[in-house]
Amino acid sequence: MNEEYPGVAAGQKLFGHVDRHEWNDWRWQLKHRIQTWEQLIEILDLSKSDCAAYRELVDTYRMSVTPYYFSLMNPSDPMDPLRLQCIPDIRELWAAPEYVDDPLNEERDMPVPDLIHRYPDRCLAMVTSACALYCRHCNRKRRWKDRMRYGSRDSLLQMVHYISLTKSIREVIVSGGDPLMLSRDRLEWFLRSVKDISHVEILRVGSRIPVVLPMRITPDLCAMLRKYRPLWVVTQFNHPREITAEAARACEMLLEHGLPVCNQSVLLKGINDSYHVMKDLLYGLQRISVKPYYLFQCEPVRGTEHFHVDEDAGFRIMEDLWGTISGLCIPRYVYDLPGGKGKLLLHPASRPSDAIKEDLT
Ligand SMILES: *Cc1c(COP(=O)(O)O)cnc(C)c1O
Ligand code: SF4
Repeated sequence: MNEEYPGVAAGQKLFGHVDRHEWNDWRWQLKHRIQTWEQLIEILDLSKSDCAAYRELVDTYRMSVTPYYFSLMNPSDPMDPLRLQCIPDIRELWAAPEYVDDPLNEERDMPVPDLIHRYPDRCLAMVTSACALYCRHCNRKRRWKDRMRYGSRDSLLQMVHYISLTKSIREVIVSGGDPLMLSRDRLEWFLRSVKDISHVEILRVGSRIPVVLPMRITPDLCAMLRKYRPLWVVTQFNHPREITAEAARACEMLLEHGLPVCNQSVLLKGINDSYHVMKDLLYGLQRISVKPYYLFQCEPVRGTEHFHVDEDAGFRIMEDLWGTISGLCIPRYVYDLPGGKGKLLLHPASRPSDAIKEDLT
């Protein structure tokens, strides 16, 4: 536990004395996740009269915060950008009608359960619905409820079978939930089965574990992943304060094992919707050799309305970044169009003006 993190004192109240060895053990971290509404009431210091509402909130959208991530935030500041990402907010229950469970129509593009095949050369396999920490802005919140339904061996087998029959697929995105929440053996079995298919060339693992539970990135796990290269890891840092020594070490270990790491952020109100925070985030990622890949416009997902940043504000941030910071730091700002129409690039100056066209000829 790094004594300088703002949530350490509150963490000690919740967990008691924890020695360094336990703290750095991912199993201890998983076992001590904050998951109940009673703990939430205690952390937020709420009165008994709020209990029913918070109980409904945690029943509707589950909660889980790792002690590590908890230690990074200031739990008593409702505007803390890390707290906003993981502590349930009563506004999640106030949905406007245009905010729906599955705006991207992912459930439509599934040739077999939990496998989305929307673009010909790549597909996305949701191998579990579990995550170490449930991000309040998650666009797959709808899947948290049926906790037992996902990731059975049968359903993974069906995915492998579909991929083996579909020759156009050269890249498989292993997603979730968080695939690094699967047991090592189940994950390895899936990676190996997919990689054994002759037309599959590339694996991509989407995981927030390096950010929310970096101690899970162990030499043993990296050595296993390394066997299935080329394998790209895509993670999700949303705020510069998440780039800690622990998270940097996790990314470095992946890189040292030949596993390139990219980042997908979500543009989130009060968290990273300013030029300065975004610049610090992107510079920080470049410093730890993680390539900013996407910046996602927040989707109209039920229970995430309070994170919505309007497109014009996003555009302005991108315009300012484009003009001032290293090209290696710039992500592609995209909006995944509702209805499952695919990703739309939202980029300043993506089409040359007539004046520039003259220069080009
Ligand atoms: C975003 C996405 C992908 C990956 O697209 P890239 O542009 O290659 O990152 C694949 N499948 C689905 C359904 C997606 O939403
Ligand atoms: S790690 Fe990903 S899938 Fe899990 S809650 Fe966060 S955004 Fe959603």
